Amino acid sequence: MTKYVFVTGGVSSSLGKGLTASSLGRLLKSRGLKVTMCKLDPYLNVDPGTMNPGEHGEVFVTDDGGETDLDLGHYERFIDESLSRMSNTTTGSIYSKVIAKERRGDYLGKTVQVIPHITDEIKDRLRRLSTLGADVAIVEIGGTVGDMEIIPFLEAIRQFRHDAGRGNVCYVHLTLVPYLAPSGEQKTKPTQHSVTELRSFGIQPDVIVCRSDQPISDGLKRKISLMCDVPNHAVISAIDAPSIYDIPLNMHNEGLDRIVCDTISIDVGEHPIDLGPWEEVVHRVHHTSKTLRIGIVGKYVTMPDAYLSVAESVRHAGFAIGATTKIEWLEAERVPTEIDAARLRQLDGIIVPGGFGERGIEGMVATARIARENQIPLLGICLGMQVMVIEFARHVLGLADAHSTEFSLTTTSPVIALMEEQMDVTDMGGTMRLGACPAMLAPDSQVAGLYGATVVSERHRHRYEFNSRFVEQYEAGGMRCSGTSPDGRLVEFVEMPTHPYFVGTQAHPEFKSRPDRPHPLFQGLIDAASLRAEGREPHILDPNTVDAVR
Ligand code: GLN
Repeated sequence: MTKYVFVTGGVSSSLGKGLTASSLGRLLKSRGLKVTMCKLDPYLNVDPGTMNPGEHGEVFVTDDGGETDLDLGHYERFIDESLSRMSNTTTGSIYSKVIAKERRGDYLGKTVQVIPHITDEIKDRLRRLSTLGADVAIVEIGGTVGDMEIIPFLEAIRQFRHDAGRGNVCYVHLTLVPYLAPSGEQKTKPTQHSVTELRSFGIQPDVIVCRSDQPISDGLKRKISLMCDVPNHAVISAIDAPSIYDIPLNMHNEGLDRIVCDTISIDVGEHPIDLGPWEEVVHRVHHTSKTLRIGIVGKYVTMPDAYLSVAESVRHAGFAIGATTKIEWLEAERVPTEIDAARLRQLDGIIVPGGFGERGIEGMVATARIARENQIPLLGICLGMQVMVIEFARHVLGLADAHSTEFSLTTTSPVIALMEEQMDVTDMGGTMRLGACPAMLAPDSQVAGLYGATVVSERHRHRYEFNSRFVEQYEAGGMRCSGTSPDGRLVEFVEMPTHPYFVGTQAHPEFKSRPDRPHPLFQGLIDAASLRAEGREPHILDPNTVDAVR
């Protein structure tokens, strides 16, 4: 039987509910329990696929083609389980289901209402998680207690404990304990108010996780315990951590997994914890002997969450070779005018990540050219591969107006094009190649060497494809189409044998990297970057574009 842990947040958004939930997931998994996770998002979009990554962060893609919230990326990286579209539900998807049922006549005669129809649909989806066979399902409620949008979710999870029984459900509430410099004190009042608010919906938290920039004293814990009516040891101090990968160990030291297990009647004696593998990850994070500078040249670089999984994948590959990776976020539109070849040459490696729309495309093409001509390691991801292909056509194959039909319908060399021109592109949610697709790699290719395999599977999210009409021209010109779909029709990987690392993939490998199992394509980039760094001139970093290691 699956037990449920619900994670809510109070006081403020961006407290790290996703990371807290993920860390708990990792700890329970380290106790030998089978864990699954789910995010309930309170917005009306049916899924985040249509949301601007510059505002909402990346769209995380699951194997089954779900376009989901970026927190699922944290979940997968921490619990190391592939999740599915079942693991993300939005208010929009709940309402559209209920309204479709109403139109079909499923509720004939009834007034369809938020309670019980919306809350029942939420509970159905929560119950369905139990079909995955997990011991524990950790469910994060997006938004902050006090937002009117999340009220139906709170009511549904309140009812859920009533239905499932007390020993089967645990409520974890995350709050902020601010430090007020003038009085030199940490303040518990926001936590008290937030718990009062949660209680007004009938939910008494079992565990309170307090985010703060310094440890919460025992005295303060006692106060929170008394005022919020939770046991003293159920007040968990979660201080800012140097790396997100430290959080599970910090949470364990505070006793989070133990109190959760006690609440849902899991005997910790029967499930001793083995933190060894995670401690190994954390050791690597903090014991690096070199620093590599990796540029990410994209469209949404002012919002690094737009490339969250890419950045984490870079870090994972760095951990594996004892390298700290400093990511320089570079606005594609500023290349090559403000960010010129000399500047890019200071980097050890470059990534051109995925994206949609025309803004910045010429800057990405210029980046690919600079990387190719200067032997700078480059990994092109999805749109990044497409710009590598466009650049190569223009400057090596002599197809001066080569382009993708996403950006030019008049190009005489549509090297990237829709394969199904007749596709109905008015339904923006339904025309993409989404989710895991197999690919066959040429046995003697660089990518096959990196993967150590000739059949691989990666997740996709795109409409346009390499136009196979041009394959022979590319191969003759020196760019190898080194991996294709099993039927040979779609080009999935390109590489340049005369370049240290010039690899493009039509897929999104960043979704499958793990802190202890970096993705081969990122590892290839970081290994090449490391070699380049050995011969690199030291240079001064621009503090405005350098992201601290997380
Ligand atoms: N815009 C491109 C396409 O739809 C690339 C998409 C992406 O990078 N995810 O094919």
